[in-house]
Amino acid sequence: MKLPRIAQVVLPLPLDRTFDYSIPTKLRPQLTLGQRIVVPFGKSKKIGYIVSLSEKSEYPKLKKIISPYAPEISLTAELLTLARWISEYYLCSLGETLAMILSPNLKMVKFHEHKLLPWEEVPFSPLPPTKSQQRVINKIKEKIELGEKEVITSKVFLLHGVSASGKTEVYFQVIDFCLKKNKEVIFLVPEIALTPQFVELFQKRFGKIGLWHSRLSKGEKYRYFLAAKNGELKIMLGARSAIFTPFRNLGLIIIDEEQEFTYKQDKKPFYHAREVALKRAELNNAVLILGSATPSLESFYASKKGRFKLLELPERIEERELPKIKIVDMREEIKKGNRSVISLDLQEMLNECLEKKEQAIIFLNRRGYSTFLLCRRCGYIAKCPSCQLSLVYHQWEKVLSCHYCRYKENVPLICPVCKNWRLSFAGTGTEKVENEIRNLFPQARLRRMDLDTTRKKDIYHEIYHTFKEEKIDILIGTQMIAKGFDFPKVSVVGIINADVALHLPDFRAAERTFQLVTQVAGRAGRAEIPGKVILQTYYPEHYALVTASEHNYNKLYSQEIKLRKELGYPPFVHLVRILTRGKKEETVCTLAKKITEKIKLQQKLLEIKNDYLKGIEIIGPTPAAYPRIAGKYRWQILLKLRNETNLRQILNPLKDSYHSRSVQVSFDVEPLDMF
Ligand SMILES: [Zn+2]
Ligand SMILES: [Zn+2]
Repeated sequence: MKLPRIAQVVLPLPLDRTFDYSIPTKLRPQLTLGQRIVVPFGKSKKIGYIVSLSEKSEYPKLKKIISPYAPEISLTAELLTLARWISEYYLCSLGETLAMILSPNLKMVKFHEHKLLPWEEVPFSPLPPTKSQQRVINKIKEKIELGEKEVITSKVFLLHGVSASGKTEVYFQVIDFCLKKNKEVIFLVPEIALTPQFVELFQKRFGKIGLWHSRLSKGEKYRYFLAAKNGELKIMLGARSAIFTPFRNLGLIIIDEEQEFTYKQDKKPFYHAREVALKRAELNNAVLILGSATPSLESFYASKKGRFKLLELPERIEERELPKIKIVDMREEIKKGNRSVISLDLQEMLNECLEKKEQAIIFLNRRGYSTFLLCRRCGYIAKCPSCQLSLVYHQWEKVLSCHYCRYKENVPLICPVCKNWRLSFAGTGTEKVENEIRNLFPQARLRRMDLDTTRKKDIYHEIYHTFKEEKIDILIGTQMIAKGFDFPKVSVVGIINADVALHLPDFRAAERTFQLVTQVAGRAGRAEIPGKVILQTYYPEHYALVTASEHNYNKLYSQEIKLRKELGYPPFVHLVRILTRGKKEETVCTLAKKITEKIKLQQKLLEIKNDYLKGIEIIGPTPAAYPRIAGKYRWQILLKLRNETNLRQILNPLKDSYHSRSVQVSFDVEPLDMF
């Protein structure tokens, strides 16, 4: 066999092309596809990826490859195929995609061995599954079994199970089944740092697991990548980027809490781990399980259309009841003369909870003390000078602070507009809730858990364990306490302002609110003690809150899907959001307009109709919902299309042509972030 003389190389740059390099004779026997190599580029050296090998090049004079780079870790052929698909689907260069999957400079470095998880086997004796668990387990096992013999179709399961319905046991049983067949497993969780309990469970059950997330050191990443590629590791547990684990015999992918936004990357390439998992399952003939108590509307729709197979666990294990959710209308509280942010019902429940020596969780998705500073005479609101978003008052620091860019300023003594002396604080944050509860229940042991109290390393775990050891009576916090908290003594959950997410300028606002309420409420009554939930709101009749209080996902789904269809939103159309950002508003806006013109031109050339049902609808360019963040102006163009081919036809020629230092452009396919 002749050895290849030329390598086609892509570089980790926003360039959609390959570069030919000649392979020095002595390197010819060693170089393979997917390897990283050092090449001369311009006046410097760069690390690139070999994406194909050939005998000839159309270019007469070629530079030579300098050397291979850490050749023991390279991309598998499957990951190369996957990268090509991502780069096409998410309108991003192949080089940038490869750099995300295998970082260009990942190599062996010294690191502390003790940082890794212990790899010794820990014995485990699992509980027998319930009937509904067993039914679900059998269905999945059948598919895995079939996958050994033939190419399986409909290999995606949507596992819809209420909180504490025993999804984890289902996962464990099918993972075990896979391992026995010598297949490998990827398990994704929304945020690994927030799920210490889960990691513990996994270790107890399976002993040797890999752990993958963005905060790993280079040494740890290197070791896990190598171990997975060489088959020394069979399970990778991680955040979204663990979907790129270089297993060669992948049999099962599980995405827990599949509706979570953290599965979508918020920078280039804007991939969604669920979409990538669908592709990987296809390439590997593997089974994919999407698990959730509140599936994303898109996934549930796919299950209704038969693209995903729906499996349900409608009851909690051991016939435990779902927590009772009571909606409290806060407008009535004011009429009753209660000016506290804690409703009378919640006060009563907390009292009872403390007497019984049980635990409570109080949830509010806003940190700080007051969420804005307001002049009631002229309407002035203190805003961040570089983001134009209202500043949040932090009482312990006595400053106003911007939650987007961390800008801080002292509280002004008088209104800078009308010189009014009496400025008022409005809106409630976690600090204020903590204060009020401290005043109401001076005897209770309180802790607050939000970004402000957990900035220091390991504080999260400290609070977590203190709560677990029942040394905290009432835990107050933001989203952080909504995830993966499974404590048997929690009997009361209070949701202070369920409306926060309802008013976001986002077509998913109702869905998000339902998910959040369900998730937080699900923290209550997970063991023998039944759970009670108080949901405080100014919009008690809103369908997202009503359906959440009834634990009625199907009702929420049918209301919401109707709206999506009427208004033309996913899953009925594809959305693409093009965002331009830069320091000068004029250049940002001009570029957005230029891109829009180009899209219209493409549309004309391809004779695509001006209608999202039959062609394309172009919304904008307009300033983004947050028009300025950290001093950068932001303009957006939103595209709605029914047909994916049209999307590629229109956008592929555009994706690579707008790079400049002064304005950044991003193409976000199926965006989740609408701000
Ligand atoms: Zn004023
Ligand atoms: Zn700011």
